[in-house]
Amino acid sequence: MIYLDNAATTKTAPEVIEAMLPYFGEQYGNPSAIYSLGSAAKKAVNQAKRAIAAAIGAKQEEIYFTSGGTEADNWALKCAAEAYQEKGKHLITTRIEHHAVLHTCAWLEKKGFEVTYLPVNEEGLVDLEELKAAIRPDTILISVMFANNEIGTIEPVAEIGAVAREHGILFHTDAVQAFGQLPLDVEELRIDLLSASGHKVNGPKGIGFLYVRSGLKLGSFFHGGAQERNRRAGTENVPGIVGLEAAAERAMRLMEEKTKKVSGLRDYLIRKIEAEIPYCRLNGHRTKRLPGNVNFSFSFVEGESVLIMLDMKGICASSGSACTSGALDPSHVLLALGRSHEEAHGSLRMTLSEENTREELDYVVESLVEILRKLREMSPLYEDFLKRGGAYVQ
Ligand SMILES: *Cc1c(COP(=O)(O)O)cnc(C)c1O
Repeated sequence: MIYLDNAATTKTAPEVIEAMLPYFGEQYGNPSAIYSLGSAAKKAVNQAKRAIAAAIGAKQEEIYFTSGGTEADNWALKCAAEAYQEKGKHLITTRIEHHAVLHTCAWLEKKGFEVTYLPVNEEGLVDLEELKAAIRPDTILISVMFANNEIGTIEPVAEIGAVAREHGILFHTDAVQAFGQLPLDVEELRIDLLSASGHKVNGPKGIGFLYVRSGLKLGSFFHGGAQERNRRAGTENVPGIVGLEAAAERAMRLMEEKTKKVSGLRDYLIRKIEAEIPYCRLNGHRTKRLPGNVNFSFSFVEGESVLIMLDMKGICASSGSACTSGALDPSHVLLALGRSHEEAHGSLRMTLSEENTREELDYVVESLVEILRKLREMSPLYEDFLKRGGAYVQ
């Protein structure tokens, strides 16, 4: 199997599993209990908080564990909107956010908030002038993702943070794809709220965190016990928290080496596809791009068909169209770049890790050449194109 879907989830690192195991076994104490079995668990939770805070330039008491990126995004947006609604009811975000942000914004709109969805340019970058122009006296929150999960584009987070701070507006960033992959310092970047997730950085699923700048009056999203200093009720997911810490430490330790290797593989794959497959177009920014992200639109084909045929060759990838209940929804991210519905449907995302090799990528491109030739031969769109005088240039 060749796994090229690391933006969807990553392999749990063996050292992460190793670190978690005792907390599924003999270390089963409840961190809220006062006997030593409980305080050992509490110690592990606090140690994890310290390590994760250090990884993003935050303080220990600014880290709150959640069930993942989705909960962190929901909490940040819903509770910031609620806490600051006296000041205003306007939020700014982008058209290319993850659904955890976009669907939360849609819910807030139903509750009487107003949301501006910033457009992006052809490469997926937010324009700072458009951001400034969208700011109103009643704007309370700007939420812009650190890096996009589909096309890999890295947003100008430092500049956005500076604009937000200058206007006295809170800045939230969904850093699920950036945490552990890119250097990140919340002080330097003037971030007030940051969401991250374990399973995108070789950690376990079902654990993540929200960074909340101290002094911010964010209320609780969950109500119940007094865990997490009364801000996030529910018995802590101790094994998950310990696994997240191990994953974060591993990611920080390997970041430089991994970035070098994975971005080298990425550029190799991009060059090879562009050289060997006609009628393709790279989606996202060529250099301001996550190390492992490759996303192409191939004319005259459906991404879903490409995926199924890749699967038969043992290759796992992802497409910009999700086939839900028989209706094909083109990716909102690709549409925001200005791609046509056809181009959005013909997209393929391959997200790499340090475990991939050039030999694997050679096999992937070889397979793609064959698959695309077959699919295009069957495509009425392609037949039309040939009739109009187009030629298969290979
Ligand atoms: C995966 C992802 C999420 C959701 O995180 P979960 O931990 O799976 O809930 C949110 N935002 C982005 C950008 C993601 O890639």
